[in-house]
Amino acid sequence: MSQPAPEFQIIVALLTAVNEQQEQITCLSEQVSKLEAENKELSDRLNTNSRNSSKPPSTDGYAKPSAKKKDSSGTTPDPDSDPKGEKPNPKSLREKSGRKPGGQRGHKGSTLRQVEDPGRTQYHPVIDCENCHRSLRSSKIVKLIERQVFEPGRFGHFEVTAHVAEVKKCECGHVTLGSFPEGVDSHVQYGPATQALAVYLCQYQLVPYKRASQFFLDIYGLEVSPGSICMFQENAYDQLASTEQVIVDALKNAPIAGADETGMRVAGSLWWMHVLRSEKWTLYHLDPSKGHSAIESMGVLLTFAGILVHDHYKAYFRYAALHVLCNAHHLRELQGVVDRDCNHLAVRLQRMLRLAWHLSNGFKKIGMEAMPETIRQRISSLFERTAKRAQAEEAEYMERLRQRRGDDKVRNTKAFNLFKRLVKFKEATLRFMTDFRIPFDNNGSERDIRNGKVKQKISGCIRSKKGAEWYSRIRSYVSSARKQGHNVFEALLIAMKNYSDQPLLGAE
Ligand SMILES: [Zn+2]
Repeated sequence: MSQPAPEFQIIVALLTAVNEQQEQITCLSEQVSKLEAENKELSDRLNTNSRNSSKPPSTDGYAKPSAKKKDSSGTTPDPDSDPKGEKPNPKSLREKSGRKPGGQRGHKGSTLRQVEDPGRTQYHPVIDCENCHRSLRSSKIVKLIERQVFEPGRFGHFEVTAHVAEVKKCECGHVTLGSFPEGVDSHVQYGPATQALAVYLCQYQLVPYKRASQFFLDIYGLEVSPGSICMFQENAYDQLASTEQVIVDALKNAPIAGADETGMRVAGSLWWMHVLRSEKWTLYHLDPSKGHSAIESMGVLLTFAGILVHDHYKAYFRYAALHVLCNAHHLRELQGVVDRDCNHLAVRLQRMLRLAWHLSNGFKKIGMEAMPETIRQRISSLFERTAKRAQAEEAEYMERLRQRRGDDKVRNTKAFNLFKRLVKFKEATLRFMTDFRIPFDNNGSERDIRNGKVKQKISGCIRSKKGAEWYSRIRSYVSSARKQGHNVFEALLIAMKNYSDQPLLGAE
C-alpha cells in the first residue's frame, strides 16, 4: 500500500485533534453547567437567613447577620466559634435531676406555721343560727378557729393577717361557724399577693421556681418553697380557665387576627408554640403538632370569618378566613433572590411593595380607609405583570439548565417558587391596599410569639406538658391584659383574688 500524501496526513492529524478538543469542550461545558447548578443550589441553601428567606430570626443563632453583638445576658459571643451561624438553640447547661420541681418525698421543707402575734386580726362572729336563724349574739362562744394568711410586706418583712371565726352552738343543737372570707380555707396559707407575685416572677419574668423562692426569702424574709411556687402557677391556671374562653371568643369575632408558630422544646421533645392574636387579645397554645390538630384545639379558626394574617404556612389556608400574607417575609425572600442572582425584577417587586405601603399610609393619613380604586388597580396589575415576567424568566433559565444537563430533574429554583407564589397569591399579598386596617406584615404576631423564644433561651425548655399548659394560658392572659392597658402584676392579683370567676378582660 502506498503512503498517503503528507498534506493529507496533516489534515487527518488536525481533524483528529479538533475532534478530540470538541469532545473535551463538550465534556467540560457539561461539567461547568453541572457545577453552576450545584453552586446555585448550594448557595440557595447556605445563604438563607432571617433577612432573605422565610426563616425566623431565631434560626440565625447567636451569630445573626446584622444583629447587635451582645445577647441578652450581656456577654459577647465569640464570633469565630460559630462562623456559619450554625449554633443550635442554646439550652440550659443544668443537668437533669430527674425529679419533679418542688419538694421531694421525704424532704421536711419549711412548713408554714402560724405566728404568735399576727399584724392584723379580723373577727368573724356568729350572729344567727345557720339552721333556725335564732339570734346567737349573746350566746357563749364554744370555740375560736384561727386561720392565717401570709403576704409580702415592706422590704425585709412579711405581713400576717389572722382570721378568727367564732363557733357557737344553738339551742336547736346546730353548731354554727363564723364565715371566713372567700379563699381563706386553711390553717395557714399564702395570700393572693404572694401567689400573684410568684406567678409574675415565674411566668412573666421567667424566673425559675427555685430563684423565685430565694427572692421571697431575701426580699421579705418569707419562706416560700419551690413546691408552693409551683402550686401557685397551677392555681393561676385554674383561676384563668374562664378568661381563656373569653379570649377565644373575642378572637373568633375579631375583624383582623394574626397567626404564627415557632418550635419549642417541651419535656425533651419538639413542640410548637402557636399564637393567634389581635390588637387587643393574644391566645397561646403549645402543642406537639405544628398543623391542623393544634390549630383546631385552639378553637378559633374553625368559625373565624375575619381577616387572617400569616406567613404562608399552608395549614392556615384550610380555614375560611380572608387571607393576608406577611410582606416582611416577601421582602426578605426577594432580598434573597437579589443577593444570589442580582435579579432586577426582584428589586422592582420589592420597590413596588414598599411604594404601595407608603402610598397606603399617605392615603390613611388624610382619612381614607382604602386606596382609590384606579391607583390600586394600576399597582396591582403592574405587580402581577412584573411577577409573571420574573417567573417566566426564571422558568426559561431552568429550561436552559435542563437542556444543558440533559436532566429533567432540575429542581425549581427558590426564585421561581417565590415568583410563582406572588402571582398566585397576588390578592393576599396586596390586600393591605383594599382596607387600611390590614397590616403590611405579620410583625405583630412575631412580637407576640417572641417571649416563647426568650423563655427557651432562659430555661432551655419547658419541663412538662402541664408546665406548657400553664405557660400558654397565663401568658395569654398577661399579654391580653397588657394590650388592654392593665398593669401585669395587678392583673395577676385580680386573677388570684377572682374567686367568683369574673374575668377582668374585655370589660369595656
Ligand atoms: Zn338553731
